[in-house]
Amino acid sequence: MRPGNRTRTRTRTSSSVGVGMGVGMGVGMGMGLLVGCAPTPADYGAARAACGLEPGEHAVVAIEEGRLDLSLDATCATWLGEDLGLDWESFGATPGPVAGGEHSQDLVLFGAWQLVAADYGTVDDLLDEDLPSTWGRGALDHLAGRLDLAGSDPAGALLYAWVTTRIDQVVLDPELEGAGAWFHAGTVWVPVMDHPGQAPPAWMASGLVHEAAHADGPAHVPCADGSHPEVGCDPDLDEIYGTQIGVLRAQAAALDPQAPHAAATESELAQDLAMACGMVNTPGADCARLPPTRP
Ligand SMILES: [Zn+2]
Repeated sequence: MRPGNRTRTRTRTSSSVGVGMGVGMGVGMGMGLLVGCAPTPADYGAARAACGLEPGEHAVVAIEEGRLDLSLDATCATWLGEDLGLDWESFGATPGPVAGGEHSQDLVLFGAWQLVAADYGTVDDLLDEDLPSTWGRGALDHLAGRLDLAGSDPAGALLYAWVTTRIDQVVLDPELEGAGAWFHAGTVWVPVMDHPGQAPPAWMASGLVHEAAHADGPAHVPCADGSHPEVGCDPDLDEIYGTQIGVLRAQAAALDPQAPHAAATESELAQDLAMACGMVNTPGADCARLPPTRP
C-alpha cells in the first residue's frame, strides 16, 4: 500500500435528480423516473490511488480463518466515504480506518472498495451477454459514451461512475435492521449490518450498483412466490436484478484463479448469484451459473 497523504478538493457539483424508491442488496421494490441531468462521477483513478492501488493492479486479499482479511486504511476509507457521500454521523462513527466488518459502514465501504479494487474485466466484457438486462446494458453503455470510456477501459471505472453519479449519500437507518436497503432520490438508506457474512464485499459492491440503478431503472414487481410481499422482485432478467447479476458474473469471469482469495470470492459470488436470481420471478435455468474464467 502506498502511504496515503493525498488531499482533495472535490465537491459535488450537482445532485441526482432521479426520483425513485427501491430496495436492493437482497430485496426490493422501486419506481424510477429519470429527469435529464449529468452529475459528475467520482474519479475512479483517484479513488484507486487513495487506496494504494497502482494503475492496472487488482487487490490481492489474504484469507484469515476462511474469510477475506479486509481492512481499509484511513485515507482509503475516508476517500471512498466521500465519493459515496457516506453520512458517518448517522452510523455513529467518524471518518477513519475500517477493519473487521463489524459495523454497517465497514460493509458499505468494503463494497465501494471492491468496485475500485476488483477486476470486472473491460467495459466490453461487462456489456456482453453475461449482463442479461437489456435495460442495464443500455444504461451503462449510455454512461460509457457520455464519459468517453473505451471498450478496453476497466469496467470498474464505469461501475464506479454509475454509482457515484446516482448515489448522493449513504445513510444508516436503524429501523431497517435485518431488511434490505432503500434508495430514494439519491439517498441510499442501509440497515444495521454487523458481520461480514451478512453483507459480503462482492454482494455489497453489486448492491451499490443495484441501488444506483433505482435512480432511473424499472420498478420492482411483487414476487411470484409470495415472498417479500411488501417489497419486490423483478419479472425477468431484463431489469435491475439482471444488471446486478451481470456485475457478479463479470467479477467471477475476471477472477484470477491464482489469487489467494479466489476460492473464497468464487464461493461468495455463487451464493450472491443464487440470492439475486432468487429475486427474479422467471430467472431461467442458467441464472445462477458462474461463468467460466476469462483466459
Ligand atoms: Zn431494488
